[in-house]
Amino acid sequence: MRNFALALLGVTVFAFPASAQQQPQPTPGFVQASNPPAAQLPVAPITAAQQRTIDRLQAAALESDRAYDIVESLVTEVGPRLAGSEAEARARDWAVAMLRANGFANVRVEPFTLPYWDATREEAHIVSPGIERAMVAAALGGSPSTPEGGLTAEIVRFPNMAALEAAPNGAVRGRIVFIDEHMARAQDGAGYGVAVRKRGLCAPVAQVKGAAACLIRAVGTDTHRFAHQGGSSRQAQNASLPAMSISPADADVLSNLLQRGTVRVRLNIQADIRENAQSGNVIAEIRGRERPNEIVLLAAHLDSWDMGQGAIDDGAGVAVITSAARLIRDLPRRPRRTIRILLAGAEENGVHGGAAYGRAHAAEAANHIVALESDFGAGRVWRFDTRFADTAAPYGRAFQRALSPLGVLPGNNLADGGADVNAMRTAGVPVVDLSQDGTDYFDYHHTPNDTLYAIDPENLRQNVAAWATFVYLAADTDWSFRAPPAQ
Ligand SMILES: [Zn+2]
Repeated sequence: MRNFALALLGVTVFAFPASAQQQPQPTPGFVQASNPPAAQLPVAPITAAQQRTIDRLQAAALESDRAYDIVESLVTEVGPRLAGSEAEARARDWAVAMLRANGFANVRVEPFTLPYWDATREEAHIVSPGIERAMVAAALGGSPSTPEGGLTAEIVRFPNMAALEAAPNGAVRGRIVFIDEHMARAQDGAGYGVAVRKRGLCAPVAQVKGAAACLIRAVGTDTHRFAHQGGSSRQAQNASLPAMSISPADADVLSNLLQRGTVRVRLNIQADIRENAQSGNVIAEIRGRERPNEIVLLAAHLDSWDMGQGAIDDGAGVAVITSAARLIRDLPRRPRRTIRILLAGAEENGVHGGAAYGRAHAAEAANHIVALESDFGAGRVWRFDTRFADTAAPYGRAFQRALSPLGVLPGNNLADGGADVNAMRTAGVPVVDLSQDGTDYFDYHHTPNDTLYAIDPENLRQNVAAWATFVYLAADTDWSFRAPPAQ
């Protein structure tokens, strides 16, 4: 998923993070600058042989169902795989075998530990008015347990996070806070950055005001009776308030009842919380033929929430980056630079794998030429964004030209890169986004409907074609996307 930390800060997902001060200062929209017209702006040349290879890669990708077969294998043979669980360990074994079978080099697991969290019970009931009735609910990741048998209190509703933040403590004390904010549907997923704020901040803010617990309208754009799962920032903020999300239909009932009078709700969460659970990142490479120390980093994450099957989040990403790299591995000649696959562990509950990669590879951050992640479902790639130095704009346009036969539009120079490459980006590594169409992503995201039915195989092929194009060209040139060293 796009940068959760940025989203928590209330910054839109494409915003330039304050933490990336070592980054080249990006200029918005250099790819599509209209004055002078884009056609007259300099474009870095590529060789005829490289163009032939790109044509061949795209044609091969658009004919191959390897990516679908990989995600089908992960869903069928492993299934959901919560961070730090035995299922996630099986996913690592699956990944090592799959990457070796695809002929990659240096396949290995880099282990790390994390705090484990799983809800063994997650129930919410309206207890009054009327007879008791169940709501469809999911405990938010990291939530503490309620007392045995649950916690009952009066509901106080807020239309959004800002209203809770502005509320006097007396309006909240001893009650269950209910944030009833709706999420906007958008092709680029921009609604998520706004919506996820309530998921991360409801509990810590409500706790400071003396609330008993926190309830949110699920972070999603669907009208299914699902409660989307998702992490919250409670552990990081040292808060300890139980927190849940409820389905849109149940949020509506709650809201409508509140217009009629007082509503009391019982939440029952029992959580299995342990320190130092085991996870790991799975790494594989195609070693560069001329510049093996220079790395093009491709990321996706292996773990998933567990109500669905982890097909689009992020089995699809695992499949896309692996399939693109495999097409490049099959070329008669390896690219000049090393291509490294990072299948990160434990992304969903705090980007632990991405952080572990950043720690383990801090010394070679300067060797990372560019990093990118596939973690936004299985929709078509519709836009190409960069975060390059201004001097690298001609390279951005060359990639744009190579991607255009796939229907990919020019984007901006404010790429996010993705959560699992965040540590590398903050260490100064240039990033790009092969931005996927996320119009319906949040209908499925973190729900029981995250299954193979949410994947269109044709869209997956187009993703592989776009990834193969970018990765091959980045790895087979000597282009640098960083600012030149200061004189
Ligand atoms: Zn994800």
